[in-house]
Amino acid sequence: MNTENRVRVRFAPSPTGGLHLGGVRTVLFNYLYAKKHGGDFILRIEDTDQARFVPGAEEYIFDCLKWCGLNPDESVRNEGHYGPYRQSERKEKYRLYAEELIAEGHAYYAFDTPEELDEMRRKYKTDENPQPQYDHKVRMRMKNSLTLSGEDVHELIRSNTPYVIRIKMPENETVSFNDMIRGEVSFNTSLVDDKVLLKADEMPTYHLAVVVDDHLMKISHAFRGEEWLPSAPVHILLWKYLFGLDKMPKWAHFPLILGPNGKLSKRDGLKYGFPVFAMNWTDAKTGELTEGFKEKGFLPEAFINLLALLGWNDGTEQEVFSIEELIHEFSMGRVHSAGAKFDYEKAKWFNHEWIKKLDAGSLKERVLEALEAKM
Ligand code: GLU
Repeated sequence: MNTENRVRVRFAPSPTGGLHLGGVRTVLFNYLYAKKHGGDFILRIEDTDQARFVPGAEEYIFDCLKWCGLNPDESVRNEGHYGPYRQSERKEKYRLYAEELIAEGHAYYAFDTPEELDEMRRKYKTDENPQPQYDHKVRMRMKNSLTLSGEDVHELIRSNTPYVIRIKMPENETVSFNDMIRGEVSFNTSLVDDKVLLKADEMPTYHLAVVVDDHLMKISHAFRGEEWLPSAPVHILLWKYLFGLDKMPKWAHFPLILGPNGKLSKRDGLKYGFPVFAMNWTDAKTGELTEGFKEKGFLPEAFINLLALLGWNDGTEQEVFSIEELIHEFSMGRVHSAGAKFDYEKAKWFNHEWIKKLDAGSLKERVLEALEAKM
């Protein structure tokens, strides 16, 4: 926990496309937790992967949050004391930490070319290990500062040879942490590869940036989707090495949202004709339009309500909740760890309930708004 004991949570999207309803649920649960505890909800743009930059995606995220009424307390648009709030503008902050890890023996320089990496994957491929990783089994056979002399390393760096910095995952250790939803979660470090922390373009990868920024922005609770759970051991170790586990935020990983065939995907929406994104999103490359709940005619109140019930309930039969009621009732202890099934018929039912609550005046206003948007 940060020293001030103030609740500070963050939503940290990579602006690469449409905002999936699972992403909005992550925003919602963060927001509810912050508001319930009188804390701050921060929006941090994680754009260190320049290859995945999508014009307009950042603005779209702000539009979605605005439509949902889940506006951040701090972001690139309303900076607090911990800016910049866009990671690409924080580039110079990360290298020092990567160097510190090297100095302490927790990371190393790796000079392997893409061809050498391909060769490694070919050479060490076996039936038991069809996709060899850069890990404790192979690192001592690769071109890095663990295998080269200090002089050679110095010379390679001096002559501008491209390199990355990798974490040196310990062998056969157990890394555990307490997840507010799942309880104690443990990993064996031998199963995790030596992830890249700093790339050849000097940009950090997500793993280094997320830990450094959660620390510098005094994040007290890091809540995110279950798909990030496999990355947790790397993050826990970085916390241990750089800042100390006592400073680490509390964690929670929200359950997956399930569609008709496993994790709910954009494809499911296209196939079965229901929205999966908060608002319409058009892929600039393919021109493909993915429908949003907004344009489909959902009220934001209904959208928020149905998302809250995907993985959480208050322990009673109540299903219709306003945002004020949600802030009051929400607790992380009542979020389940099992996947939450998305049911479009039920989603429409929520919308119907919320439409029934509107008085004639506001109904007219909203209908006109929806009609105008379609003209
Ligand atoms: N940048 C990650 C994402 O795109 C953030 C994951 C996290 O919250 O740690 O979702």
